[in-house]
Amino acid sequence: MRKPIHLEKLYLDFDSFFASAEQQLNPALRQRPVAVVPLDSPHTSVIAASREAKPFGIKTGTSVRDAKALCPDIVFLEARPDVYVKLHNRILTTIETCVPIAAVRSIDEVACSLLASEARDPHGLAARIKRGLHDEIGAVLTCSIGVSLNELLAKIAAEMDKPDGCVVLDHEDLPGRLFDLRLKDLPGIAGGMQQRLEQAGVSTVEGLWALAPKHARAIWNSVEGERFVTALHGYAVEKPETVKRMFGHGRNLPPDWRAPDKVLQCARLLCLSAGRRLRRSHYRAGAMSYTVGVRRDSRVTLVGQFRAARDDRSFLDCLNDLHDKMVRAGEMRNISSVTVVLHDLSSEVEESRDLFDTQAATEQRGQWERVSDLLDTVRVRHGSKALNLGPVNGPGNYIGSKIAFGRIPEPEDF
Ligand SMILES: [Mg+2]
Repeated sequence: MRKPIHLEKLYLDFDSFFASAEQQLNPALRQRPVAVVPLDSPHTSVIAASREAKPFGIKTGTSVRDAKALCPDIVFLEARPDVYVKLHNRILTTIETCVPIAAVRSIDEVACSLLASEARDPHGLAARIKRGLHDEIGAVLTCSIGVSLNELLAKIAAEMDKPDGCVVLDHEDLPGRLFDLRLKDLPGIAGGMQQRLEQAGVSTVEGLWALAPKHARAIWNSVEGERFVTALHGYAVEKPETVKRMFGHGRNLPPDWRAPDKVLQCARLLCLSAGRRLRRSHYRAGAMSYTVGVRRDSRVTLVGQFRAARDDRSFLDCLNDLHDKMVRAGEMRNISSVTVVLHDLSSEVEESRDLFDTQAATEQRGQWERVSDLLDTVRVRHGSKALNLGPVNGPGNYIGSKIAFGRIPEPEDF
């Protein structure tokens, strides 16, 4: 199990999202107790209460009837999902100008992975994100940010100082303030799980912290228990559903970019961009597919395989090889689009030694990996065109910034 050496995760959670969103969009609602309900009916319950409504005891799940009894002046608003989704997208774009989003966990919660350089000043980074949201979205819709060693701890930290808070939990802060929390304050520990913990004699976070991982696994009756306690102790525990399947980019080509050498030039940029995203997410790839759109609606794909790699040299060698094959097969005519995808992903650290590898080959691969890492660092610091293997311009000059495969682009992609 890996113990992160720096703060790796930032978790951002908006305060009373739906209610604050309504107050943000309609100044007449500000400073007033507001509750958002899913539909205009006396038999429904509140899905978000504004911070002015919370002191009356109104929260998510309070029935409309109870809310009215607790606060006769409360304003009920019917939820407007389309409006919230638009706002959500503006929010993601704003956050992404400060730090790449690793996972969108809900309409008002996102998780980000931090580089060592970003982790050095977590409060500064949180302040930049909050400033950006303030300037782009407004002052009413605030968020709370947690920064820690893994996503569970970052999420817990984000809950510790609501609203508009920022809490950092580093190794030296553990367990510290965790013991001030109640079990039910922890994400995923509600009702049934809390009962099971109590039956096992665990009624406090201190008791949970002291559990052996195996014991936690037995209480949860799942590996999830072990993951939870291990994450609480600050180990890097990735959620299994965040496992990626591929990194890819595609582009439509303008007429002056359809000659084979131009297609290759564009493909190289797409390939380098996919490689950077792969390294940033700590993966290796074992295969590449190279797809060209031929004529109007037919595509040709060639797949190349290689030893699990994370360096640009391996990727570009494979791409050149696939491109040559495509040219020799006579497929490089009337090309209207090009796509490069890295797949067969494995963990960055799971490099299996190949018995037939020579010492020289292993050393050379290590060198290319260091060169690729160096290029990534230079690009992050000095801009995307500071240094590259090969030409830097593609059609339209925004290779990789388009949303491909449903992903949210990262600032380094621009
Ligand atoms: Mg929230």
